Amino acid sequence: MDVDERTLTQHPLPEDQTVEFTLRPQNLDEFVGQDKLKKNLKVFIHAAQKRKEPLDHALFSAPPGLGKTTLAHIIAKELNVGLRQTSGPVLERVGDLAALLTSLKEGDIFFIDEIHRLNHSVEEALYPAMEDFSLDIIIGQGPSAKTIKLPLPRFTLVGATTRAGLLTGPLRERFGIIANLEYYDEAELASIVVRSSRLLNAPIEPEAAREIAHRSRGTPRISNRLLRRVRDFADVETGGKITHAVARRGLDA
Ligand code: ADP
Repeated sequence: MDVDERTLTQHPLPEDQTVEFTLRPQNLDEFVGQDKLKKNLKVFIHAAQKRKEPLDHALFSAPPGLGKTTLAHIIAKELNVGLRQTSGPVLERVGDLAALLTSLKEGDIFFIDEIHRLNHSVEEALYPAMEDFSLDIIIGQGPSAKTIKLPLPRFTLVGATTRAGLLTGPLRERFGIIANLEYYDEAELASIVVRSSRLLNAPIEPEAAREIAHRSRGTPRISNRLLRRVRDFADVETGGKITHAVARRGLDA
C-alpha cells in the first residue's frame, strides 16, 4: 500500500486501535446517522428490557469502518450487560466456541466479527446455541460416542459481516434482527469529525470539518483517521487549532 491508499483504506490499521476506542460513541444518541436502525434498536432494546428477556440475535452488515463493532458495544451498554468479542476465523474449533459461550452471563452480548468466515462445524454448533441456548457436546468416539446437551446462559449473538451474501441460509434465518448500515453523508461525517475533535481536544473550524468529511468516502473510520493526520499538521503550524487552511494542507500533503 502506498501512503494514500493506507490513509484511505476502510480496514482498521494498527494505529487506529487505541484512538478508535476513545472516539467510540457510548450510547445510541451519540451514534451519528443510521436513524432508522437506531430507532428500531431503541424499540427492541426497550421491549427486551421490559420483558426481562435477552435481545433477539442481531446481524449487522456493512463495509468496514461504518460502525458495526461500535453498535455491538453500544447495545451491551444500553442493556447494561457484558460483551464478549471474537471473530469468525479465530473460532477454529467447537471447543473454542464452547469455552466462550459457557463464560457468558445471562443476557450478555456475544459479538462475532466477520461471521461469514466461521467454519462449518463451529457454525453448526452455533445453531442450537442460538435457538435453544444449548450446545451439543459429543463425548467419546465410535459406536459408544454420546451426545450431551450443555445448557447455556441465555445470550444475544451480535454478528457483523462485510459480506452478507456469503452467509449461509440457516445461519441468517436464526437472526431476529437483520440490518444493513449505509454509507454516511457529508453532514453526518462532519458531525462525527466535530465530536471526535472535541474528544481529542483539538478545536476545529466548521469548514475544516466539512473538508475532512468530503474526503472520507462515506466512512467514519476514515474521517477519524484524516482528523488525526490534520491535527498533527495543526500542532506544528497553528498551535493546535484546525483551521480550514491547515486542514487542506494536511489532506493534500
Ligand atoms: P466496523 O466494525 O463496521 O468496521 P467500527 O465500529 O470499528 O466499524 O467503527 C470505526 C470507527 O468509526 C470507530 O472508532 C467509531 O468511533 C467510528 N464510528 C463508526 N460509526 C460511527 C457513528 N455512527 N458515529 C460516530 N462514530 C462512528
